[in-house]
Amino acid sequence: MSSPWQSFADEIACWRDAGRVADFWWRDDDATQPSAALARLTTLAAEAQVPLGLAVIPDGADPAIFADLATNIAVLQHGVDHRNRAAEGEKSTEFPATEPHASALQRLAMGRARLQELAGARLLPVLVPPWNRIAATLLPGLPELGFRGYSTFAPRAAQPADGLRQVNTHVDLIAWRRGRGFVGEEKALAEAIEHLAARRTGAADAAEPTGWLTHHAVHDEALWEFLARLFEETRDRAGVRWLSPAEVFLSDETTIGSQGK
Ligand SMILES: [Zn+2]
Repeated sequence: MSSPWQSFADEIACWRDAGRVADFWWRDDDATQPSAALARLTTLAAEAQVPLGLAVIPDGADPAIFADLATNIAVLQHGVDHRNRAAEGEKSTEFPATEPHASALQRLAMGRARLQELAGARLLPVLVPPWNRIAATLLPGLPELGFRGYSTFAPRAAQPADGLRQVNTHVDLIAWRRGRGFVGEEKALAEAIEHLAARRTGAADAAEPTGWLTHHAVHDEALWEFLARLFEETRDRAGVRWLSPAEVFLSDETTIGSQGK
């Protein structure tokens, strides 16, 4: 094995030797239309038998994308229209602090209703805000709309709101500022090792599974190959478990929603 893969295996061995399981989950963003890339993604999830949370943009979502989803794919809500409403100088976001709450919540409810109609039981009550950003003041309103989970990027901090479980992604496989290609296996595995080690040593919340973030529409061949190898290396390895989105957001095991008032 090459060295980054060896280091990755070594970190997993630390978990295994401690009698623990390094739990992972997989989120892919920006599904709207049928495409060769989306077909390749869903085929990979089915063949590798790794559960996938597919974040779909409600507005403009083509009903056809829900037709052939493998049984291990759950649908998550990726914002509503994925339009950037950031104020000048603010980072890209569909949900800026400047949008009135009532308006944002109404849009979210409509998006949720549309996805519910299209995806049926495949839809989980989980919001993935575009650009991984949402005004924090909106979060307490999400449970009333039926949301039980929410996902952005980077290790989670405090519990966002009662009744809302936050589980983020931690390894972004796209080099957004360097031509949108694959970040490379060295960086990808280093990010995974960093989060795993932080969880293991208590520097990060140990109960937050390590999330791998992909964007099928911009994958290059190297990224597809990396994903296939990652699944091959981890699927049957002792000390690793790929959680389904339902386990990640709705199970009692990693209950962080029980704290509070
Ligand atoms: Zn997006």
